[in-house]
This record gives sequence, C-alpha cells and structure tokens, in this order.
Amino acid sequence: MTAERSQEYYDEIKGRFAEERDLRLSYRPEGTSQFTSELTGDLERYAADPYIEEIVGREPIDDEVEVLFIGGGFSALLTAARLREVGVESIRIVERGGDVGGTWYWNRYPGVACDVIAYDYLPLLDEMGYVPTRHYAEGWEILDHCRAIARRYDLYELAVFQTTVSSTVWHEDQQLWHLTTDRGDSMRARFVICANGTLSKPKLAKIAGMESFTGHSFHTSRWDYEYTGANLENLHDKVVGIIGTGATAVQAIPNLAENAKELFVFQRTPSSIDIKNDWETDPEWAAKLKPGWQAKRRQKAMTAPPLSAMQVDERAAMSREEKIRRQENANIDYMMRIHRRIDEIVEDQATADALKPWYMFMCKRPCFHNEYLPSFNRPNVHLVDTHGKGITEIGSKGPIFEGTEYELDLLIYATGFEVQKTGIWNQIVGETGVELNEKYRDGVRTLLGIHSHGYPNLFIMGGYQASFNFNLTDVLQSQGDHIAACIDYVRRNGHTTIDVTFDAEEWWVQEVIAHRGKTSRNAECTPGYYNFEGEFNRRQDGNYNGGFPKYTGHMASVREQMDEHFSFT
Ligand code: NDP
Repeated sequence: MTAERSQEYYDEIKGRFAEERDLRLSYRPEGTSQFTSELTGDLERYAADPYIEEIVGREPIDDEVEVLFIGGGFSALLTAARLREVGVESIRIVERGGDVGGTWYWNRYPGVACDVIAYDYLPLLDEMGYVPTRHYAEGWEILDHCRAIARRYDLYELAVFQTTVSSTVWHEDQQLWHLTTDRGDSMRARFVICANGTLSKPKLAKIAGMESFTGHSFHTSRWDYEYTGANLENLHDKVVGIIGTGATAVQAIPNLAENAKELFVFQRTPSSIDIKNDWETDPEWAAKLKPGWQAKRRQKAMTAPPLSAMQVDERAAMSREEKIRRQENANIDYMMRIHRRIDEIVEDQATADALKPWYMFMCKRPCFHNEYLPSFNRPNVHLVDTHGKGITEIGSKGPIFEGTEYELDLLIYATGFEVQKTGIWNQIVGETGVELNEKYRDGVRTLLGIHSHGYPNLFIMGGYQASFNFNLTDVLQSQGDHIAACIDYVRRNGHTTIDVTFDAEEWWVQEVIAHRGKTSRNAECTPGYYNFEGEFNRRQDGNYNGGFPKYTGHMASVREQMDEHFSFT
C-alpha cells in the first residue's frame, strides 16, 4: 500500500512533465519533419535488404488476378486466409522484401521479440493448430508463423517478392486496378488491398554531417549480421553506438552490451521499462486447449467485465474533472513505480536519474524488459544522455554532443519508422483521376479507415481512422474479416465493384472527429510518434478513438446494411 499523496505532490510531477515536454518542443519545432524516410541517394543503403543473397532476376509480369495485396505482412496473410475460406482462388501478394512477414521479415535485430502475449498476438492459431512456444514470442518464431500461414493458404503460388508497387490506377472502363512496379510489371487486379503496414518505412533523424561518418552504420530494421556476426561475435573488439532508446533499442541494447567492447547509448527521451513476465508454454496447458481457443480468448478480451451497481453510481456522481484527476494521479503513481524500479536496479545514481521517464504512461510506447536496465551497470556501457536535445551532429568519427566526438566503429540508428501512412505510399489514383494523397490533403476521409469514396474495390489496412489497439493483430484481424466479407458479398451478389458512398464516409469522418481530442492528454504528452511529435494535426487525421469494441461493432452494423453504406455495380 502506498501512502495517500497530496494533490500538490501530483501537481508538482505534472509540472515536471510539462517542463520536459516544453524543453523537447523548443529543440524541435519542426515536428515530424525532423526525420526522413526518403532513403535515396547517399541514404539508399539504409533501406537495402540485407537478408537476401541477391536480387532474383525475372521477366516483368503482365497479367490479371482477382485480389492483389500490396505488402506481405500480417495484414495480407490474415485477410488472404479469410478469402481462401470463401473460395477466392486468384490471390497475389506483392512484397518489397524477399519473403512474407512484413515487420517480422525486416526486424531481425538481436533480441527482437513481441511484448504482446503470443497467444493473442500471433493470428490464426486455431486455423493453424499452433500454440506459440513462449508467453512472449521471439521474432524468429513469428516470422516462421508468417511463412507457415503463407504455405498453408497457398499464398506463395502467385506471390512476387523484391518488388515495390509504384502506381495503382483505377481503369473505370475495365473496372480493374492497374499496378506498375519497380520491376517493370504491369499487373491488373479486381480488388487491391493496401497491406503495407503501420510502421514499415524506416526513418532516420536528419542529423548534420551523418554522411561524413567513416565507420559502419545501419538502421535496426536492416541489421547487418555480416558485419556484426550471427551472434554479435564480431563486435567483441568494436566500439558501438546506438541512437534512440525506443522499444527497438530497448530489446537490442542488452545484446549489444554483452558483446561490444564498448557501447555508447545516445538517449534523447528514456522509455518506461516494466517487468517482462515471460515463460515457456506449459505443454500440458497447450495439450488441453480446445479447438477455437484463440477465438474465445479474443472474444473474452474484448468484453470488459460489467461494472457493479455501486461503481456505476459512483461514476455517475463524479464530475468529469474529478475522473480525469483520478486517472492522472493513478498514471503518475505507475510512472513513479517505474522510477523506483530504476533506482533499485541501476547502481550509478546519475545514470539512474537520466533513465527516468518524465511523462504520463502511454505518452510513449511502454516497454517491458528484464535485462535493459541492468545493462547500464556494465563497465563497457555508457549512457550519453542528451537531456531531450538529441544528437544534432555527426562527425567523421561519430556523434558529437557537447563538444565531444564519440569515436565509433559502428553506429546503429534505432530511430523508428514512418507511422500509419499505409495506403498512401504509392501513387493511388481513383475513379475521378484524383490521387489518394491529394484527396487526403484536406483531411483523411474513409469509412472505418478501410474504404475511401471514389476508390472502388480498394481496401486499406492499419491506416488512419481505424481503431488503435495495443494488440495490433486484433485490429488487422477484424479488418481482414471485414474486407473478406465485403469481397465475398460482391462476388455472391454478382456485382463487380463496391464503393463507399459519400454519406457513409462523411458519417465516419464525423465519428472520428467526435472521439478525438476529448481531453488535452495528447497535447500534454512529450513529443513522440503517438502525438505526431507534438505537431498540430487535424482531428480527423488520426485513429478512431471510440474504442476497439465499438469499432468492431460499427463494422458489423455496416455489413448488416451493405446497401446503405456502399454503391455497387
Ligand atoms: P521509436 O520511434 O519508438 O523510437 C525512436 C527513438 O529514436 C526514440 O527514442 C527517439 O527519441 C530517438 N531519436 C530520434 N532522433 C534522435 C536523435 N537525433 N538523437 C537521439 N535520439 C533520437 O522507434 P522504435 O523502432 O524503437 O519503435 C517503433 C515501434 O515499433 C514501437 O513503438 C512499437 O510500436 C514497435 N515495436 C514493438 C516492439 C515490441 O513488441 N516489444 C519492439 C520494437 C518495436 P525521442 O523519444 O526523444 O523521440
């Protein structure tokens, strides 16, 4: 039991949160444009695929399929499985990487794992008859699962890898999408599903002089095992630096700490690190699971236990301000527990203090790890805390901070990914000749984050105006089920196209707006990708915040009244 704290105690901490946020905003008024994901020219090598032996030569493709997925990660795999179940034969995945897997194809850094419970995160466990080997799966197991899904549903048959779609144009006369790629292909498809991920494009902080660095460097999503060795054994005599301390860095750092001669961690804002309660799956428990166990588990997770009559009364009597105050105080209590844990683990007080996150829980993606904090007790690990400023200059030898140039052999960028621009990477031109990006210039417009008026037979997964859920595959699965049901509806009813009506789209835009910005919480957060690095953004240009159960409820009601929401030809 913690002692009852005075409101002054909480207000003081909130004050410190605000100071830390303002400090960061003052350093970076440019918001999201502090990063670049245009990895061309000098930066091209940061995007190159290190996991393939070579670019496999092939003739350009000129053909037609029924359903084409742009991207081969979980979005495509889940939806394709459902499409197979309703009898769709002709399915093609077009994927930039050398295999399916998406995030799990690219992110192979040492220590890569998912800290959403594996029995929830890995999709199609019932269908695949598979039980993950651990409570929290490692990256290799998830990638293997992706490959197994692709084999089980014959998705390799028409798949093309090492191929990036460059344009997707609707041809009204043929009622087909025409796609071109960087491999000279000319593909046609009845239905196109943008399944290119929510965090799929690596981004780099734009740091002055980064191209002058003479050591080796790469982004965490393009891990160069040829340089580091499969078990990082080549780093034993190397000085390594890593920029960034987000969820990726938190998983990679303990391994680097163990293997590098010296490790410099360049920190701008610390992550919150809680305990990771991990264990191997108990085979007896797994053997007892009944068919359909995962679906049941998902259903249960979505249904919150009902409030007692007393709780209902108590809430009704509470003012809105009081509810927010209580929530904030509970959040601060949690973050102070995170601080105490740092003090218990990290021996050097200055390092411990620098590792303490000063913001509300969930302003940044929370992390769970048992070896991250102890890594800072190793004599070869050095935290370079930049007090919110970040690394702004890199010399030929390494990053420069407060006049010191840190001489490195290897510099790793753990600077994250572009967020949720799925669906608008390539040039998507709809029925009126307008590019989707152009349509969105005055604000994102979709139904459920999936359909956009004027773009018939196009479906977007994991993008804006969809619900957010800590377990992303829940969102993707619900979207995949919905999309497969829509395509099935079109086929069964002898239609060729489906397009959301203007009115249905407008209804959803208003729903999104109504549920966003109800509190000032996001604006009060320290900058990060959850709040567009502190930039102002239109209320419609984000997630649907009405909650995941409500989101799936809306999907179901849309499907119950297809003619009210869509036009068909
Ligand atoms: P993030 O965007 O979360 O982190 C980028 C990091 O780079 C931040 O710490 C940022 O600091 C720092 N940074 C950026 N520019 C500079 C600079 N100039 N100098 C110093 N530091 C800088 O990317 P991640 O790849 O870590 O994670 C992306 C997402 O991927 C996660 O949020 C999560 O959703 C997912 N993920 C999930 C995992 C899991 O299941 N455990 C594991 C890995 C990733 P600042 O905070 O100040 O902006």
